[in-house]
Amino acid sequence: MSDLGQLIGEVHAELSVRLGEGQVANYIPELAKVPVERFGIAVATVGGEVFTAGDALEPFSIQSISKLFTLTLALGKVGDGLWSRVGREPSGNRFNSIVQLEYEQGRPRNPFVNAGAIAVTDLILAGYRPKEAIGDIVRFVRFLAGDEAIVIDADVARSERDTGFRNFALAQFMRSFNVITHPADEVLGVYFHHCAIAMNCAQLARAALFLAAKGQNPVTGHSVVSAARARRINSLMMMCGHYDGSGDFAFRVGLPGKSGVGGGIVAVVPGVCTVAVWSPGLDANGNSLIGTAALELLAQRANWSVFE
Ligand code: GLN
Repeated sequence: MSDLGQLIGEVHAELSVRLGEGQVANYIPELAKVPVERFGIAVATVGGEVFTAGDALEPFSIQSISKLFTLTLALGKVGDGLWSRVGREPSGNRFNSIVQLEYEQGRPRNPFVNAGAIAVTDLILAGYRPKEAIGDIVRFVRFLAGDEAIVIDADVARSERDTGFRNFALAQFMRSFNVITHPADEVLGVYFHHCAIAMNCAQLARAALFLAAKGQNPVTGHSVVSAARARRINSLMMMCGHYDGSGDFAFRVGLPGKSGVGGGIVAVVPGVCTVAVWSPGLDANGNSLIGTAALELLAQRANWSVFE
């Protein structure tokens, strides 16, 4: 096993004693059922190697990590025109905050808070039926990961639809400002389904690899985005990928990353690799507690940082 494989094994072993810390997301009933002790790490290198530790091959709900993929897809469809609908500033607020939208005339702060991701989903829906748009997103994620086995967990999507009152409020509010242009239940039907995509750490690390390799997936050879766009997506992850915990993540880990309330985080080490971690216990900002600690330790020991 290489040094990297050994390193993630050590980090996994060291942090395993802390498993149980944090709160599993319980506002989506299906997510509340996931055992808090799960913990996986996967590293995918730009050279095509994948190293795993712990529960790295067990699928989990990627939730807001999907916003990274929908943003990439929407930028491909509408280009930089996307920024007339959605901002690119850190929010300094919770991921599902409503108050900021009212102050800012229905224009979401960035594509990674719920409101922003719902507006991005509205762009993807243009010209399609909701089912087609969902199919498009799943196909795109499979293409990125080079893995046809990736699917949506329908129970999670249903569970979120049944309890997603706040997301309905955000969507309706944005519709009143024409920031979304389709009926809220159609946009959210697509949004809940892409949040419910299930992937394991290894699949997730592979799917994000284009962000570590100037926009091109080095394993499949697929050109996903331009190098300039990959850089910008990374900068958005750095500034906004962890909601109100983005500053703390940048300080502790020093890498662009995107988290989800399923307990996953994917981080990018430009030119080197991607790292996906999963542990469902969340901190107060809705980010994986042990997952963040694992990335912090790993970045420190491997000497990874975009700040040199
Ligand atoms: N689907 C979740 C929601 O809309 C995503 C939130 C998250 O992962 N932070 O509430």
